[in-house]
Amino acid sequence: MAGLNVILLGPPGAGKGTQAERIRRDYGLAHISTGDMLRDAVAKGTELGAKAKGFMDAGDLVPDEVVIGIVVERLREPDTASGFLLDGFPRSLVQAGELDKALAAAGKQVTLALAITVPEDELVGRLTGRRLCRDCQKPYHTIFSPPRQEGVCDECGGDIYQRSDDSEETVRNRLAVYRAQTEPLIGYYRDGGVLAEIDGVGHPDEVYGRIRESLDRAQHQVGG
Ligand code: ADP
Ligand code: ADP
Ligand code: ZN
Repeated sequence: MAGLNVILLGPPGAGKGTQAERIRRDYGLAHISTGDMLRDAVAKGTELGAKAKGFMDAGDLVPDEVVIGIVVERLREPDTASGFLLDGFPRSLVQAGELDKALAAAGKQVTLALAITVPEDELVGRLTGRRLCRDCQKPYHTIFSPPRQEGVCDECGGDIYQRSDDSEETVRNRLAVYRAQTEPLIGYYRDGGVLAEIDGVGHPDEVYGRIRESLDRAQHQVGG
């Protein structure tokens, strides 16, 4: 059976991480989050982390040549053979083109690009209230989805923290960067015939119901 090779597109705060957790659980896809990989590199103080940190703090994109390399390498790992879920990549047309090339070289292609849409006013509130588990990266929100016990992850007991780039000022820049550099990917994947636009407003479970419909249809098409 061919795997589902899925891309999660959408502005910062659209709910990519929130939905990725559900998709991974139900569809067994390898979850690849470039944001998580880069934050891990920064925390460990690696060479990659040193290259990425300044861009991330400012809310700008890390240069394509830095990010593409880590994703192409990650896609060679065996857990991606039965399908993967890319969360936060690609974020530019150059990244999308390089991804297509790397997949084609392995006899693969993107099967579905899920673009989650949410109005900008709501994104700011979601991002400034976002909290994350330091250990498993599960997203929480101070108002919309607080953990059962304050400061403690429901899933793994890890410590909950706020990302330094979720300040209002940096959030505004990240949204502008999204519009300028990432939004054109919606047209790219529409032209490629793999786009599904998902209304990202409503309870996360309701949004996930919409995503499931698209995933099940795509799975049917690849013969799963
Ligand atoms: P992304 O990965 O796209 O940046 P996240 O999944 O981290 O987005 O979600 C951003 C914030 O919004 C988090 O605090 C999360 O708990 C919250 N959130 C996610 N989905 C919804 C939703 N459908 N309604 C309200 N808040 C949400
Ligand atoms: P969000 O939850 O807001 O969508 P991410 O966790 O995906 O944010 O990304 C955090 C930061 O990491 C971005 O602001 C950017 O600096 C960097 N980053 C993540 N993915 C990419 C990518 N594909 N290309 C360039 N920079 C990236
Ligand atoms: Zn956790």
